[in-house]
Amino acid sequence: MELRFPIKEEEEPPGDAVSSSLASIEGEASLFGGGNIIQKIWPGITAGQWNDWKWQMANRLRTIDDLVMFLNLKPYQVAKYKSLIRVFHFAITPYYLSLIDWFNPEDPIRRQCMPDLREMEFQIVGDFDPLEEDLDTQVPGLVHRYPDRVLAVVTNTCCMYCRHCTRKRIWSSGESVRSKQELASMVNYVRATPEVREVIISGGDPLTMNLDTLDWFMGELQRISHVEAIRIGTRVPVVMPMRITDDLVKMLARHRPLWLNTQFNHPREVTPESQQACDRLLTAGIPVSNQSVLLRGVNDSIETMRELCHALQRIMVRPYYLFQCDPVRGVEHFRTNVWKGIEIIEMLRGYTGGLCIPSFVVDTPGGGGKIPLQPFYLLSATDKDILLRNYEGMIVKYFNPQDVDFGLLKKSAMNGKYGGTAQLLKGNGKALVPEETPRYRRRMKSSLLQIKEEKA
Ligand code: SF4
Repeated sequence: MELRFPIKEEEEPPGDAVSSSLASIEGEASLFGGGNIIQKIWPGITAGQWNDWKWQMANRLRTIDDLVMFLNLKPYQVAKYKSLIRVFHFAITPYYLSLIDWFNPEDPIRRQCMPDLREMEFQIVGDFDPLEEDLDTQVPGLVHRYPDRVLAVVTNTCCMYCRHCTRKRIWSSGESVRSKQELASMVNYVRATPEVREVIISGGDPLTMNLDTLDWFMGELQRISHVEAIRIGTRVPVVMPMRITDDLVKMLARHRPLWLNTQFNHPREVTPESQQACDRLLTAGIPVSNQSVLLRGVNDSIETMRELCHALQRIMVRPYYLFQCDPVRGVEHFRTNVWKGIEIIEMLRGYTGGLCIPSFVVDTPGGGGKIPLQPFYLLSATDKDILLRNYEGMIVKYFNPQDVDFGLLKKSAMNGKYGGTAQLLKGNGKALVPEETPRYRRRMKSSLLQIKEEKA
């Protein structure tokens, strides 16, 4: 992906009303053998600076010298880390840094943001673009995979670069944002494609963009009659909550119906600051949902996920998805077995309310899209009854009404609206057979031979 234009400075004044998180930092346990880590790095920093998102952006940790200091690197390790961050750069906001427990080398917050040499080792596993987003890209930055929605990758800049990111491949071109012409081409594509009813604006992080540009882009999309909703994907409420200023919220609220998805992965990320950021959005009528990624050593335990989902419910953020970590190059050390996700759902369903339970999904390689996975609750069936099991292991016979009308499905298949299994249910053929199998190729070969022989 080519992103040529450097990110621009915002015009509006710094956020001024976010609570003084510095005060709480001052009370934290001492780090590096005494003294507060924030005060050590930025002596004399004021609460006003700390709560100013521009100060946070400008003071992100980004260089090898920062790493040498934080990871206490020996000279022989420096070269390795240098090559690592040449491939997969890094940036950590002072705010997110302040959440790390430096007494724990395996701290889940630290694991998400600090470069790890395993990223280089695992470059040989997985793909740069396992979801094949590039192949579904219609105009630069616009991915059209599902029937009624598109994904607009408007920038490759983030406040913080999550080490487990699915789009690590777009980091290589440095920090930049799509040009106005490129954004206009995306709008033109959406305008010319009436089946698109929802646009998902993502990146990178769209809330790092210039406000006027984002405002203009969303306005253009909303002027298209078939665009019914906009969704924003951002990690700002988690990694730099002071960015959720009054100006930003006011602008976003003008573009409702607008939905915002964020990514809390661990209960310790739910802080008073992130709560306040979410609350501002919610108060402005913008629903906030959460898409966690299941990460080894971060949240791959029932207790952590339960605690996270409960904390999210307390701040009125709906746990929406729990993603199986994608097989991206440089990320394998974060990936868990798929059964771990199913086990987590098994231990949530029934034990806590449905509003606290995300859908566990695998985003399938090759552009197959999201597939939900869950424990088996349907055990068996006859033509009249089905056997179900509940979360306690109770097995129940459930009478299944017989007057099921599949007419709607058949009608949809008839008018060509749905393909795949709907076509099969309509009665066209007996099976859906993937073409890329040796068996399929053998069959094709032999049937072609037969046709040739018949013709001869
Ligand atoms: S904020 Fe999102 S796009 Fe940016 S690095 Fe994290 S996961 Fe990737």
